[in-house]
Amino acid sequence: MGQARRRRDADRQAGQIGSPIPAAGLQGDHRGTCIACLRPTDTGLAFQGEAEWIFAGLLGLGVPEDQVHPALADLDPAGWGNGLVPVGKTAVTVRACAECASKPGFPVALLLPGHPVPAVQPA
Ligand SMILES: [Zn+2]
Repeated sequence: MGQARRRRDADRQAGQIGSPIPAAGLQGDHRGTCIACLRPTDTGLAFQGEAEWIFAGLLGLGVPEDQVHPALADLDPAGWGNGLVPVGKTAVTVRACAECASKPGFPVALLLPGHPVPAVQPA
């Protein structure tokens, strides 16, 4: 794990992204797209637990390992920025399509203001 973390940090510093990703949307970024397949979606879920669990959850959705930490840093720079991970239990809401979430058996729901998001926690 330690070596993988260092490699991810090195990749980030070099501005590299591990694998080809679709072109960014009209807003110039991937907002509004599934965190795993990067296709537009209105659904998502929340991972709740220790950093390692959230990391594993994103892997389960199909996010490439070298992109999990950068994705989390984008979502929560205070917790995951600069190669860090949050200490103790935390929660991260991610946008994920039903197709990607169905592979590990995670629930998704429409991401709407005031609408509860399904929480995925370690068994
Ligand atoms: Zn997807």
